[in-house]
This record gives sequence, structure tokens and C-alpha cells, in this order.
Amino acid sequence: MKKFVLPESQLPQQWYNVVPDLPAPLEPYLHPATLAPLVPGDLADLLPDAVIEQEFSQDRWIDIPGEVLDAYRIWRPSPLYRADRLERALGTPARIYFKYEGVSPAGSHKPNTAIPQAFYNAREGVRRLTTETGAGQWGSALAFAGSLFGLEVVVYMVRTSYDQKPYRRLLMQTWGATVHSSPSTVTAAGRKISSEDANSPGSLGIAISEAIEDALGRGDTKYALGSVMNHVVLHQSVVGLEARRQFEAAEDYPDIIVGCVGGGSNFGGLAFPFLPEHLAGHRSTRFVAAEPSACPTLTRGVYGYDYPDAAALGPLLPMRTVGHGFVPAPIHAGGLRFHGDAPTLCLLHEQGIVEARAYQQNEVFAEAIRFARSEGLVIAPESAYALRGAVTEALAAREEGRQRVILFGLSGHGHFDLTAFDAFLAGQLEDYDITAAELEQALAGVPAVTPRGRSEDTVADGTV
Ligand SMILES: *Cc1c(COP(=O)(O)O)cnc(C)c1O
Repeated sequence: MKKFVLPESQLPQQWYNVVPDLPAPLEPYLHPATLAPLVPGDLADLLPDAVIEQEFSQDRWIDIPGEVLDAYRIWRPSPLYRADRLERALGTPARIYFKYEGVSPAGSHKPNTAIPQAFYNAREGVRRLTTETGAGQWGSALAFAGSLFGLEVVVYMVRTSYDQKPYRRLLMQTWGATVHSSPSTVTAAGRKISSEDANSPGSLGIAISEAIEDALGRGDTKYALGSVMNHVVLHQSVVGLEARRQFEAAEDYPDIIVGCVGGGSNFGGLAFPFLPEHLAGHRSTRFVAAEPSACPTLTRGVYGYDYPDAAALGPLLPMRTVGHGFVPAPIHAGGLRFHGDAPTLCLLHEQGIVEARAYQQNEVFAEAIRFARSEGLVIAPESAYALRGAVTEALAAREEGRQRVILFGLSGHGHFDLTAFDAFLAGQLEDYDITAAELEQALAGVPAVTPRGRSEDTVADGTV
């Protein structure tokens, strides 16, 4: 395994914003109640001003504050590896590289955005942050970031995960966060669900409702999001910017870039900094997004406006979606169970620049095992979808007898996911295929709002 380590002096000083470089303008977000284009003031109760400004920014480059760079230096620049042992195991002529984000304290790429979000909130006098978490990756990243900037962090953790995954909860508590099993008794939304069903397993939609209610109810509190929105993808660009410099050091350049997609932030963070060269025709790169067959947003969803949350509280986003009411099967890649994706990624997919592939969890875990036994790293189930995509391309290169340079995003380690590996090794993992009827039912929940320019009229069906 060859390792390309950037010196600290090469840590990017600016984030890259893909929005001004998109081949078509991004449609506006819409206010969930009025359906009018969202304006910055609409987010003022939830997000700090600096983050709102970034969310709407058309600037290509945005300075990374010194305090954020100092925190990034705890583990950044992260290494780029050449996976030559995997290449030999596959017998492929392809050169496979991966950018490893598992070296962060929380074990994934998510602190890349948790840190600037915590920093901007603290700078603007916010004392307390709320958020939701499913499997616990995002909650632990925010708990870590909050501890660096003296913020109280309150995490609403979906009850099934709270009960079944004590280690991520303990990680959050170790960093000083308060973790509520959601539905909780501390919010009206949680109490209402609990009164209707005392044994509710919870859901991400319920946890989001609790976190938002908590933030809106207190002047000293705001809310933080771990994926999907522009500012999150912006912060993650540090990954791809570093990778570009590491490829210069390796005297190589990727023909194919593969990432896993939950909400699209690690994919966008890795891939988008390579986009300008592709769009300008200086390089020809294929961008491949890997998602679970159990939540096939890009491969089987529809492009339109949808809510980011099950409770339809958040702004309508122009994205590909399988419907905000869709509850995916309980696959082990909890971070990939989101019904929509980042609007920037969806637009690039619509434009034919990003390709999408869907994989089943057994084929994905088989690759994670092969990787552990060739390269040594035990990777997150989410990241294993990107690995599966990279291996598929490497095997195609072998069939065609062609040289290919493949880069994939290794978004996190799998040290807290060993029960999933246990299930795979015991032959107990299930593959899930959504039937046409199930898909149709899920898509029926997508509100009938057509993005401007795709039909004569923008119409609402009165869902809100
Ligand atoms: C959350 C998570 C993902 C999916 O989120 P994106 O926003 O799509 O990047 C992928 N990998 C890991 C390890 C995660 O924690």
C-alpha cells in the first residue's frame, strides 16, 4: 500500500463551491409553507448567519477560518492510498486509489463540516446546538466539534439505534453531548408520538422534528445538518482539494471517481473539485455515485421538489427523491438511508455528468471483507458501497484489458459496525429489492411541485 501524505503546509486554505460552475442554474429552495423561493432570512432561527451566507453563495472560493484550519490539523490532511494489494487480489491492470477519511477523531468525513458549523455558531454567540442522528456518525462528529468550541450539543438519536448501538452513544457522551432516545419526553413532538405508541422505535423524521422544535424554542440554540445542503458539500470539498494535490505528488490523475451517496456530501466533497477540469475539457473523468438498492434515490427516484424530512418541516429542495415518507429497509449502511440527495449532485446527475449505480448489501460486505484481508482496513458499511463501485470498474478494466485510474472515497472506518460484519459472516444479511408497487407508493408522496423551467407552470398540490 503506497501512501501519499500531504505536508500540513499544503492544507487547503479555501473551500471550493461548485454552485457557480454548474452547467445549469440551481433551482431555488422553496419555503415549506408558502412555496415561495426561500430567502436567507427564512433560515435565521435555525442556522448561524455565516452558514446561511454560504448556503446561498455564488462565490467559487470561500476562505477557511484560521480556527477551523487549526481544528482540521488534528487529523488533516488525510492520506491518499494506492491500493496495490487490492489490485493484485483482483488481478486488474487498473490503478486504484482511495482517500481515507476514517482517520478523523469521529472516524468519518463528517467532522469536516461539524467543525466549521460549530465554529460559526460559537462565534455568533450561540451556546447550544441540536441535531438528530440515526446510526450515530453525524451525532458523534457534532459532539466532537462542539467540545472543541465550548458548545453544548444535544442529540436526538433514533431509539432503535440508541438501544442497539451503545458505542456511538457513549462516544457522543464522552465528548460531553447530551443524547436523548427519540421519541423523547423533552419535546412536544416526542411526547405526542410516545403517547400514541409507547414502544415507538423512532425514525429519523421524528428525531429531526424534535431537534428543530428544541432549537426553535430557545434563543441560545441553533440546529446543525450533516449532509445534503450546499454549505455541507462546500465544507467537504477539503477532501477533493487535498486529493488533487496528492495526485500531483503521485504524478497520476483519476479517470473514474467513485463515492457512496447517502445525502451526497462525501461524494460531492471528493468529486466536485475535479469537475472544473472535466467541464473545461482539459480532462475526461467519469463520476460514479454508489447507493443502496434498498434506497435507490438516483437510480429509481424522480427529479422534483421534495421535503428533506418526514415531517415536512424543512424547505422543499430540488432533488431526486424516492419520497420523504419512504422508510428504507434496515440495511446496515444507516448513513445511506436518506430519501433524497444534495441538489447540486442531483443536477449534475440530471445533466448526465454523474452516473449512478445501486448495489445490494451482500455484494458490498463481500468487498469490505476482501478489502480488510488485502489492505487491512475495516471500513464502514457506507464506504463499502463506494468500494464495490470501484471494484466493479477495476474488474471491467481487467475484462477489457485496459489501464484505468480509479479513485474512491473511503468515508469512514467500521470499528463500530462489527455486528454488521458478524451478520454477514454468519450468512444472515438480507438483500432487499423494492418492488415496482412499493416504489410507486413511495413516489406518490412526492409533492407535485415542478421545478421552474421543466414545465410551463410551478404548481403545488396543497400538501403544505
Ligand atoms: C453519513 C455517512 C455517509 C453518507 O453521507 P453523505 O452525506 O452521503 O456523505 C457515508 N459514509 C459514512 C462513513 C458516513 O458516516
